[in-house]
Amino acid sequence: MMTNPKMQALGEKRSVIREIFEYAKVRKAEIGEQNVFDFSIGNPSVPAPDCVNEAICRIVKETPSVLLHGYTSAQGDASVRKTIADYINARFNTRLTGDNLYMTCGAAASLTISIHALANPGEEFITFAPYFTEYKVFVEGAGCTLNALPSDEKLLPDFSALEKAITAKTRGVIINSPNNPSGVVYGEQTIQKLVEILNRKQAELGTDIYLIADEPYRELVYDCEIKVPFVMNYYANSLVCYSYSKSLSLPGERIGYIAVNPDMVGAKSVYAAVCGAGRSLGYVCAPALLQRVVAACVDKTADVSVYKQNRDTFYQALTAYGYDVVKPDGAFYLFVKALEEDAYAFCERAKKYELLLVPGDDFGTKGYVRIAYCVAPETISRALPAFEKLAKEYQAKV
Ligand code: PLP
Repeated sequence: MMTNPKMQALGEKRSVIREIFEYAKVRKAEIGEQNVFDFSIGNPSVPAPDCVNEAICRIVKETPSVLLHGYTSAQGDASVRKTIADYINARFNTRLTGDNLYMTCGAAASLTISIHALANPGEEFITFAPYFTEYKVFVEGAGCTLNALPSDEKLLPDFSALEKAITAKTRGVIINSPNNPSGVVYGEQTIQKLVEILNRKQAELGTDIYLIADEPYRELVYDCEIKVPFVMNYYANSLVCYSYSKSLSLPGERIGYIAVNPDMVGAKSVYAAVCGAGRSLGYVCAPALLQRVVAACVDKTADVSVYKQNRDTFYQALTAYGYDVVKPDGAFYLFVKALEEDAYAFCERAKKYELLLVPGDDFGTKGYVRIAYCVAPETISRALPAFEKLAKEYQAKV
C-alpha cells in the first residue's frame, strides 16, 4: 500500500471537535439525549428561512430538468453571480461584477481555492490566534506555512507581532470576523490599523500581500451598533470568502463564493488564478440548484435572534458564576478562560458534568475553551447548573 503519508495522517486523525462530537453521540445513546450538554460543534440550530424551501420548490417546478440539474459555468451561473454582485454593491458601495465572483462549496472551498490561487509553495500566510483550525490544513495543503500570531487580551490582533512577522515570503493574511472561536468582531479601527501595516509592508518589500476575509458569520452580529467593516472598502488587495452555511443555516448544502476586489491591480489575473485553482482542485460548478436558491434569497438570513438570546443568557450566567468570558459580539461561540492552566484537563473535568467543551489549544490559544451556543435555549438552561457546580468545584480547591 502506498499513499501520500500527509493525507493519510489527516484522514486518520479526526479534529478534536469531531472527536468530541462523536463522543457526544455515544454518550447520548448511553444516558439519554437530554442529559448530555453538547457544545462542541458549530452546526446552526435555527432552521433555514422559509424562502429557502420556497425557492427550492419554485426553481424545481419552473426550470426544465436538463437545465436544473445540468452543469453551470465552472465559476458559477452568470445570472447568479450578477445577482450576488449587485447585492454586495448596493450594500457596501463596491463595484463588483459577476466576473469578480466565483461560486464555491462553502467557505472551506472558498479558502482553499483562494490560498492555492495566490501562493506558491514555500510562501506564508499569517493569521491571528485563536483561529479556525482548518486554516492550517488548507494552507499546508498548498505547500505553504501558516504563521498564527498572538492576539491581545481582547483577542484582537497584536499589531507589533504582525509588523515583525511580515517578510518577502508573506503572501497573505487571513482574518475571520466575527470570529470562530472567540465571537470577537474586528471594528473599523482594527481594520484600518491592519491595512495601514499591510500597505506599508507592501511598499517596503515590493510584494503583494493579500487580505483574505473569511466571512461565514458576517450576518451573525447581535447589536445593531456593531458593524463588520467590508474589507474591500479599505484595502485593494482583498478577497472575501463567503458562505451561506451559517447565515441561511445551510451547512450541509455546501454553497458560498469568493469575491475578488475589482480595485486591486491585476484583478483579472487574480480572478483567473482563482478559476485555475478551482479547476486544479476539482471545485468547479458549485451545486447548481443551491446557486439559484441563494440568488433567490440573496438578502435573507435565518432568524438569528435565538443566538443573541443564547449569548446573553450564557454570558450573564457564566460571568456570575465567576468565569472569565470574552463577550462575543457575533458568531455563535463563547471563548472562556479554563479554570485551570491546562484546558484539556479542564474539559475532562467538565465532562464529569456531561458538559462537552472544546479546548482552545486547537485554535492556537492555550488556557481557554470554546462553547458553541448554537443550541436550543432549553439546553443552555439545563446546562447552567452544571457550569455552576464545575466553577464551585474549582473555587472549593483554592
Ligand atoms: N471558516 C470558519 C471560521 C468556520 O467557522 C467555518 C465552519 O464552521 C468555515 C470556514 C467553513 O465553512 P463552510 O461550512 O461554509 O465550508
